Amino acid sequence: MTESGFDIAGLEAGHRPVSEFRYEKRPVVRGYNDRTLYVNVGDGRIAEKPVSADMRAKFTGGKGYGLRLLWDAVNPSTKWDDPENEINIAMGPVCGNTNYPGSGKSLVVSISPTTGIPIDCNVGGYFGPFLKFAGFDALEVQGKADRDVIVFIDGDDGVVSIFEAPGEAVDSHVLAEQMVAMFARDEKDRQHISSVSAGTGAEHALIGCLNFSFYDKRRKVARLKQAGRGGIGTVFRDKKIKALVVRYSGLDVSSNNPADLAGLQETGLKLHREIVTLDDQQCRMREIGTAHLTEIMDEYDLLPTRNYKFGSSPDSPGLNSHAFSAMVTHGLPDGCWYGCTMACAKAADGFELATGPYRGHKVTVDGPEYETVAGCGSNIGVYDPRVVMELNFYCDTYGLDTISFGTSTAFVMECWEKGVLDSTRTGGLEMTWGNGPAALELLHRIGRGEGFGLVAGFGVRGMKKYFAEHYGADPKLLQDIGCECKGLEYSQYVSKESLAQQGGYSMALKGPQHDEAWLIFMDMVNNRIPTFEDKAEALYYFPMFRTWFGLQGLCKLPWNDIEPADNSSTDEPAKVPEHVENYLAIYKAVTGNDLDRDGLIRQSARVYNFQKVFCIRMGKGRRIDDWPPYRMMGPVTVEEYESRADRYDKQLREQVGIDPAGMGTPEKVAALRAYREDRYEKLLDAVYRRKGWTREGVPTVETLHDLGIDYPEVLEVVKPLLV
Ligand code: SF4
Repeated sequence: MTESGFDIAGLEAGHRPVSEFRYEKRPVVRGYNDRTLYVNVGDGRIAEKPVSADMRAKFTGGKGYGLRLLWDAVNPSTKWDDPENEINIAMGPVCGNTNYPGSGKSLVVSISPTTGIPIDCNVGGYFGPFLKFAGFDALEVQGKADRDVIVFIDGDDGVVSIFEAPGEAVDSHVLAEQMVAMFARDEKDRQHISSVSAGTGAEHALIGCLNFSFYDKRRKVARLKQAGRGGIGTVFRDKKIKALVVRYSGLDVSSNNPADLAGLQETGLKLHREIVTLDDQQCRMREIGTAHLTEIMDEYDLLPTRNYKFGSSPDSPGLNSHAFSAMVTHGLPDGCWYGCTMACAKAADGFELATGPYRGHKVTVDGPEYETVAGCGSNIGVYDPRVVMELNFYCDTYGLDTISFGTSTAFVMECWEKGVLDSTRTGGLEMTWGNGPAALELLHRIGRGEGFGLVAGFGVRGMKKYFAEHYGADPKLLQDIGCECKGLEYSQYVSKESLAQQGGYSMALKGPQHDEAWLIFMDMVNNRIPTFEDKAEALYYFPMFRTWFGLQGLCKLPWNDIEPADNSSTDEPAKVPEHVENYLAIYKAVTGNDLDRDGLIRQSARVYNFQKVFCIRMGKGRRIDDWPPYRMMGPVTVEEYESRADRYDKQLREQVGIDPAGMGTPEKVAALRAYREDRYEKLLDAVYRRKGWTREGVPTVETLHDLGIDYPEVLEVVKPLLV
């Protein structure tokens, strides 16, 4: 037994070697290694692959590299649990820079268990940057092991190994600590170890996430950041991977070997100063992270409440940022990568668990982020911050996505309310709104793979099918209230009053996550994009712009969660022009290459359109797949309509041209629905036109040619759809 409390020698006794690969260590040059690492956990092959000049020029890095490698690995009939499916982790040229805040993100891609198309997640933690400095621009993991394995990349010694790992834990908060205790050579070396893992929940549910660790030397704990969306954790455990581990101890400010270190530091310093001076007045990210959004969303009627029926609740103050601020530890540099002064990766220390297999343990809970507060709080009617914290902790350690768990549980609760479910069907769980203990028990049943937990673990699309087939539920009702699109559960914003956000969600390539476009304030609150063409322009620009963060290994938050003091007086404040200039400057400082605003958009447009064609290749991504459930467009029920009757009556009068006086509520619901659905059709037309796609949402040959991605295999997918 070591100081850590783990019997590391006992665990190591079970490590039967599978394979080993030695590689030549060499420095990163201007942000790139120009090679990737291939690991097959099924047959034990490990190899390095050169990055071609074309791949670097067209796909840039990060998500672009991950998608290109994944395309080459799978075929149109590949399912998520086929051995050829991959989990690809790629970083991008700027990733690993410690001079500009938010430069440590990894991008993970795989074929998703819930959507069947490529999913991509942007995640912090040290794994990606360490992997890059260990010598690789991407890690490509393929195959399926027949027993649990660990992959260890020793970036100090230049060795990659696969070995069996029968004894290690599966739940991430234990496993991440075991990996630190096992691979660190001494106390100081603990911060040089990072792991990727999933938990027991990811073995039983399709909504599994990955946990990327970073060792917090002040707290002396391995903390976790999630690659949450689309079930990549499920793919990971299906491959019987317990952990991917990297060690790298040589980090310094010039590890990227940038073209212009002084320029990079100068641009970084500007933003550091801005954050330190302005964050307290703007978003309070350094105090409470993204959880500051809860009260703002509630105020604007945008906070999902009871499965997105409503946008606010009188109980919401129970979940406001001050409630969580009182629980997290302050005064620590909470960056999920070195040099991030935004420091929004908050954590509550010494949190005593009240339920589940770790009941009574005092743990560090990472978060909560806004999405978790809304998903595991207001959207299921829970307003007790301790319950939200406990759900947050168990979702993370079980390897389950808090957003998908929250949205799925909200759907379960509404199905209970509507009589689709009862306690015989849920195994005795009373899934009423606000029943925190029932939500926790449901989560533990997913973790154990037991009873109704297995059904809930399908996610919303799977439950819709199951409830219709097994319980005779009305498929139309389930479609209206089940908040998923393409198979991915919605993230946590009410989009009913913003047509642009409905598009931003439902046209997002991977499914409704807000990282492509978040236009609610621009559209609904500030009315800056009133026409279909204005909305289409925003739905062209912002997804392209935001894609760029995923090509570079950057975090989006320092772009617009902090703004220069004079930003509102610029021509285009929503774009935060000064920060865009910063990004062009740091790109040049790292790579030595000039990039202007058009070039930035073009880098993204190549990968974005390639991903679009990839989705079509895998069987989704056309107009029909971009259609939201009506709950995300407008009031489905009489109850919802009547809760905001003044607003909706006014819209009928002023926008639809119908006098609601004398109409029954069901009639008004139907009239509003017809109007909103028609507007959504018009939005689709306008956006597809702007993106250079057909009316069916297929990129044209001209668009692909113009972007230089008219590869034969790409044209082969689209051409039959263009006749
Ligand atoms: S802003 Fe927050 S999430 Fe982004 S890199 Fe910094 S600490 Fe991590």
